[in-house]
Amino acid sequence: MVMNVKPIPTLDDRINDIRMRTAQIVNDAILPNEARLWNLHREGNVSQHERREALQLREEIKQRVWEAGLWAPHLPKEYGGMGLDFLAHAYMNEVLAYAIGAASLFGVVAPNSGNQTILVKYGTDEQKQKWLLPLIDGSMESGFSMTEPHNPGSDPRSLDTSAVLEGDQWVINGHKWFTSNGIAADFFIVMCRAGEPGSEHDSGQMVQIIVPTNAKGVNIVRGIGIWGRDTSDHCEVIYDNVRVPADNALGHVGQGHQAAQDRLGAGRIFHCMNSVGQMWRAFDLMVERACARKVHGGLLKEKQFIQGFIADSYVDIQAARLMTIHAAEKIDQDDRSARTDISAIKVFVPAAYSRVADRAIQVWGAAGVSNDLPLAAMYMGARTLRLADGPDEVHKILIAKNVVHRYETGESWDFGN
Ligand SMILES: Cc1cc2nc3c(=O)[nH]c(=O)nc-3n(C[C@H](O)[C@H](O)[C@H](O)COP(=O)(O)OP(=O)(O)OC[C@H]3O[C@@H](n4cnc5c(N)ncnc54)[C@H](O)[C@@H]3O)c2cc1C
Repeated sequence: MVMNVKPIPTLDDRINDIRMRTAQIVNDAILPNEARLWNLHREGNVSQHERREALQLREEIKQRVWEAGLWAPHLPKEYGGMGLDFLAHAYMNEVLAYAIGAASLFGVVAPNSGNQTILVKYGTDEQKQKWLLPLIDGSMESGFSMTEPHNPGSDPRSLDTSAVLEGDQWVINGHKWFTSNGIAADFFIVMCRAGEPGSEHDSGQMVQIIVPTNAKGVNIVRGIGIWGRDTSDHCEVIYDNVRVPADNALGHVGQGHQAAQDRLGAGRIFHCMNSVGQMWRAFDLMVERACARKVHGGLLKEKQFIQGFIADSYVDIQAARLMTIHAAEKIDQDDRSARTDISAIKVFVPAAYSRVADRAIQVWGAAGVSNDLPLAAMYMGARTLRLADGPDEVHKILIAKNVVHRYETGESWDFGN
């Protein structure tokens, strides 16, 4: 089934044009080739021929994306990206995310894309030459190394990986885990606390430092097994007296916390629009199956349980999508209250996505959990999203604080704005 994308009457022609052209590539080039494109991810034997075919197909699609001017929506034009404004990028994401894995064919690959954005904003000219350009042209890979096993990631003030300036070098000591893309990465952006190990905690002293993965003392302990698999590219890393040039700091000491917020804050809109695109796909798959599968003398679509699934998923997707667009419009208008809306979507959208994927799996029966369909991967992805980028509870606390503050200062909440 193709994605049904038509121009949205309330959007300007430019954004509609981007969405339509993105949908054309998704529908013509990616969806019909999904199995061949991603066969490298299959467990078991993949022949050399299949491997070559997949890589060649990916390059052909990337070339088509590039020629269509749809490459790297997150990057400014001077770095070969689309230079998209915030809303256009959000609206494009729901379309490209419909095909699982398609983002990489449009030049957006986490965590590289987040690191690129941070390097564009905080990098010096030299850092851009050395790390950003190779990251963009694909000759380098990267990771973002913030979370620590012995400290709660949901409370970044607790992070204690230390960076001490000795002469013209940083000396880094610490223990991180869940550094994604750790196996392939050529460098990590490491969240450190400037000062001696064990010194007073102070979020003003956070600093992000670029650390090449081949530097002496960078020990990649393991790829952590997740979701029942033995290994993954989410790595546990020990930094043992790692020395890098003082110039490898991104921005100033004290800006590390803000740089992390920059990465996560607005990025949550893009993640949620991706989730909306994936829910859209799960919904199409579910309804398609309900219309075709006969059980107990009738099609699934005629059974009230299944009609309930369809209606509940419709409501979940509409609510998730409209909440996300509302938050995106607020950010676009520089509205300070957007912070509350970002937290609201960060709680609501992954949960809605879990429910939508779950119902689609149920309707498909055993096939729903098979690797023949993208539903199992969606389900795991949706569940993981409830932890990553701040777990639900942290965002609920923030929503409640902001709401209560309004009432305490003599105002009430205006749901119209
Ligand atoms: C697949 C995957 C990829 C990841 N990739 C990266 C990466 O590339 N780089 C990186 O640095 N990190 C990465 N992470 C880590 C992720 O950012 C952290 O898991 C997340 O920030 C939560 O931190 P934590 O795991 O230490 O949980 P904790 O902070 O220990 O929280 C555990 C639980 O406590 C509860 N909780 C927390 N605070 C409160 C509160 N105030 N009140 C009530 N309950 C609370 C929540 O339910 C929370 O889930 C990844 C994680 C996953 C699963």
